[in-house]
Amino acid sequence: MNEKTMQGGCQCGAVKYEVTDKPFGAEYCHCSMCRKTVGAVTVNWIDFKVEQVKWTTQLPKEYASSEHAFRGFCVECGCSMSFRDNRRPEFLSLTLGSLDDPSLVEPTQHIYADDQVKWLNIVDECTRFRQGAV
Ligand SMILES: [Zn+2]
Ligand SMILES: [Zn+2]
Repeated sequence: MNEKTMQGGCQCGAVKYEVTDKPFGAEYCHCSMCRKTVGAVTVNWIDFKVEQVKWTTQLPKEYASSEHAFRGFCVECGCSMSFRDNRRPEFLSLTLGSLDDPSLVEPTQHIYADDQVKWLNIVDECTRFRQGAV
């Protein structure tokens, strides 16, 4: 195992992955689509080039949340695992929380900050984008 590799997976272990190198992005998303998909008021995503991600067991099942967005989850335990947009096929995002050690990556941005739940108070130095990142 190479030292730049990180592992992750769902709660039950049916879906596991390995990623090489660090993600090029890591953010909190406050949008209502992520909220409803995951069932959490904000979701942390880590963004990779597709070739960095290797599914080592079964693939997550994908749900098309819009014409372009595909959200992967474990069919056994329901864990949200991935997000991709078919207009940008070179990228794949994974849920930061599905990393075996989520402390390895720190978010640097908030996206869709306008939709952040009002009682959620996050004080940090991250850049805030009112909508998606540019
Ligand atoms: Zn699972
Ligand atoms: Zn979102």
